[in-house]
Amino acid sequence: MEKARSVDLFDPRRHHAARAPLARLSRNPRTRDRRMKLCTFRHRQKTDIGLIDPGAGRVWPIGHAVPEIGDDMISLIRRYDEIKDRLQGAGAGLALGEVKLLAPVQRLLRNILCVGKNYREHAKEFAASGADATGKLGSEIPEDPIIFTKASNALRGPDDDVPLHAELTKQLDYEAELAVIIGKGGRRIKKSAAMSHVFGYTMANDITARDLQLKHRQWFLGKSLDGACPMGPYIATADELDGSALDIRCWINDELRQDANTRDLIFDIPTLIETISLGMTLEPGDIISTGTPAGVGIGFKPPKFLKSGDVMRVEVQGLGKLINTVR
Ligand code: MG
Repeated sequence: MEKARSVDLFDPRRHHAARAPLARLSRNPRTRDRRMKLCTFRHRQKTDIGLIDPGAGRVWPIGHAVPEIGDDMISLIRRYDEIKDRLQGAGAGLALGEVKLLAPVQRLLRNILCVGKNYREHAKEFAASGADATGKLGSEIPEDPIIFTKASNALRGPDDDVPLHAELTKQLDYEAELAVIIGKGGRRIKKSAAMSHVFGYTMANDITARDLQLKHRQWFLGKSLDGACPMGPYIATADELDGSALDIRCWINDELRQDANTRDLIFDIPTLIETISLGMTLEPGDIISTGTPAGVGIGFKPPKFLKSGDVMRVEVQGLGKLINTVR
């Protein structure tokens, strides 16, 4: 029987070692040197952590190679420095079609931290929509970051359906966002040190019931409907992806609605980390969804709210596609 070859997919020197097996998996020479991403997936009723090569369409389970993390991404994040050399995929792995990708971080420690009105044009469209219960007239651009949370029950996988909740809301809306995953925790993190606390990045769709957001004044209920936070499909680690200037786009049924770049954030990632951690200890695995650019449904005249069957596709450069259907 052929012995499975072990490939260290995180070693910068790996490209030589990995070339043979990956070249076999993909005939496209450009994918040979693509760095692996991290994912959480289900395969035959079992959840596992994996290394994923989206270009090659394959995933390698790694939980068994690092038993102390099991199927828990937060454990991997906590112990990353100590175990990263052991994150290895053996053999050919599994075809992506054989597995179900889940939100990359499961068992969240607490709510998803979110940022409101963090792109200028979106702040203006939201103020003009009349749906902002918190804004002051004539000062739609916030002077300080607006931090709120989404309840963890909202979390869903990268291709799960998003419930329409038609009995509760007539104004369900989408928000494409870059999500930052905290690595090293801490309190009073300075801007200058903030990026060393970032483990990596993924995408979130901050689904929002606009009518509930307005009615209850606090955004929490309108942001926290079950299924209102699809996330994934994987994590790109901060040592391979710079989150400060990434194209971010969102399509609804193939109509491009949002098209911006994360360099347009009013409050950049270091500022968000410094602000949040001033009086609150950030923990490994905390997720900060950095805000959405202009082009949400309520920004259109008339508004374009979501309806059953709508397909939402979020893309952030280097982070793949997050595709969810409203049901
Ligand atoms: Mg948002």
